[in-house]
Amino acid sequence: MPAADTNRAINLLPTFSAIRPTEIVDQLTELLNQNRRDIKALLELDGEITWDKFFSPFEDIGDRLSRFWSPIGHLHGVADNEDLRDAYRDAVVMLSEYSTELAQSDRLSSAFRSMRDSAGFEALTPAQQKVIENALRDFRLGGIDLDEAKRERFRAVSTELAQLTTRFSENVLDATEAWEKNVTDKAELSGLPESTLGLIRQNAAKLNREGYTLTLDYPCYGPVMSYCDNRDLRREMYKAYVTRASDQGPSAGRFDNTENINQILALRNELANLVGYPNYAEYSIATKMATSTRSVAEFLEDLVERSTDAAHRDFDQLTNFATDELNLRSVEPWDVAYCGEKLRQHAFAFSAEELRPYFPVARVVEGLFNTVNRLFGITVSALPGVDLWHADVQVYEVRDDGGMLRGIFYLDLYAREHKRGGAWMDECVVRRSVGGSIQSPVAYLTCNFTPPVDGEESLLTHDEVLTLFHEFGHGLHHLLTLVDHAPVSGINGVPWDGIELPSQFLENWVWEREALDTISGHYQTGEAIPDELFRRMCEAKNFQSGLQMVRQLEFALFDFLIHAEYSPEQSVQEILDNVRRRVAVVNTPPYNRFQHAFSHIFAGGYAAGYYSYKWAEVLSADAFSRFEEEGVFNSETGKSFRESILERGGSEDLLVLFTRFRGRGPTIEPLLRQAGLST
Ligand SMILES: [Zn+2]
Repeated sequence: MPAADTNRAINLLPTFSAIRPTEIVDQLTELLNQNRRDIKALLELDGEITWDKFFSPFEDIGDRLSRFWSPIGHLHGVADNEDLRDAYRDAVVMLSEYSTELAQSDRLSSAFRSMRDSAGFEALTPAQQKVIENALRDFRLGGIDLDEAKRERFRAVSTELAQLTTRFSENVLDATEAWEKNVTDKAELSGLPESTLGLIRQNAAKLNREGYTLTLDYPCYGPVMSYCDNRDLRREMYKAYVTRASDQGPSAGRFDNTENINQILALRNELANLVGYPNYAEYSIATKMATSTRSVAEFLEDLVERSTDAAHRDFDQLTNFATDELNLRSVEPWDVAYCGEKLRQHAFAFSAEELRPYFPVARVVEGLFNTVNRLFGITVSALPGVDLWHADVQVYEVRDDGGMLRGIFYLDLYAREHKRGGAWMDECVVRRSVGGSIQSPVAYLTCNFTPPVDGEESLLTHDEVLTLFHEFGHGLHHLLTLVDHAPVSGINGVPWDGIELPSQFLENWVWEREALDTISGHYQTGEAIPDELFRRMCEAKNFQSGLQMVRQLEFALFDFLIHAEYSPEQSVQEILDNVRRRVAVVNTPPYNRFQHAFSHIFAGGYAAGYYSYKWAEVLSADAFSRFEEEGVFNSETGKSFRESILERGGSEDLLVLFTRFRGRGPTIEPLLRQAGLST
């Protein structure tokens, strides 16, 4: 029998099996109308507007909608189908209209303003004050100060943006699934690891075919680019991958995002202009840690300067190696990962595949739980009997050292059809206080790892283990929060350029021997990673880190510039080409349309914010450096991180929280050192 608090939390979990796509729009219509009526009634109450009388019931109303919508949005990402897609498209528009309507409600914004101006404001907790201040800021960003004509335009632009970004990600998914290639001659696949061969043989078997079916899903595409000796195949798949959803490549024009991109950029710029910002980058910065677009640009340029020489050295080394050892006259984009892998093996006698047998998935997951137990004193245990969207999914509960339930999460590990690629954490239920009792937070952790093949347990790469830790870091931020108010609880209210702090922070432990001993063990013998393999793996850690750094900077600068320097005449491709000329060291073929599948910025929350990864990496590397000083498993340091950062959500300024943890403001040196780029 689960404990009482667990039962209460389970009662708030969605019933995925009961979601009927054809009923979603009607249900949502009814719910939104009910919310409108309830908010109206709240605003008509007599007497002074106070937190308890106004904000608490207002939060209830918002939470009801979040809990209805979260599982639907989630299913759209992990178990897509035609009916759901139709419903989702309509629903996104309705939600966008609803939220702009609230953002532009004068009565609502004056309710918040009167709370801020009241004598009672000072008596509120810092978290409550933050909720009110953030809300007032968001009213301004949502167009509250505009006249009616402009407000109307703002609403229309928001709605259109919601539609376009949905279409963008659907195109990417469709284009990814539209390409496949069957190969019957195994010789054409030489070099591919057994794990990948097993996966693509299984792909073929599912389609009743002989041989192997290649797809653009990352568990197939990644290994082909890194290991397959067949250069023609690499080139073919590279072209298919980097032209997805564009006017180029094998499905040219079929799922083309060109117009979506142009319209999204134009509308974002217009949105920013409407509320008084010269461009969308300025608008984006308004809610972030960075204080100006200039400071972001300078930050990125500084990193470019610090890493360009290293990147050129890396590429020269790669080119020389390819010429001398692999008989290649030039290193093309479809050779970079392949030659890199060969060079890594040559220089460090180390191949990423060598580690795979040591990372059977169950062991890794157990080891992860063990690691966070030692660091943060929390215990993770399986929670059976919960309704799911797929049989592969597992559910766990998290308790702290005092035995208190801190949250629940779903773990969906494997790539499969109709599931969006990549890895992410999303919120299912947010922690908040409801009438004196706590609503426990619930998270979705989603990955796209190589699925089990032929009934054998899945073996992960070290990279995949790293991804799991990364997402779990986000998960802890959501689950360990002790904030009682939804808008600043967990990852809510955390500035986007700080959101990657806990996730990148937790990645560090997959490089620590002590942690590795608990997250790894040979799948046949249980044997630990041998010392000399560990040594080679660490030596290879910063292999080509210069190249990796400039690649990330290329994405970040591109994202920032297309938003900061928007003009209707601009060509997105030209801006990208310019950034590449300045930053990239590997030549890109003219058909490359990487940006057409750059969902982070055109369909996710990273617009004019992709720099956040690097920005937060400064914080995460610096936070980890305190553990390097005090012991990587020092439970006091772990407790301090938990209490200063993980439990505080968006309830205080992140720079203040960080400084409290570190005892000083952030510095960039730990990042450069950990990436092997310090001079
Ligand atoms: Zn992340």
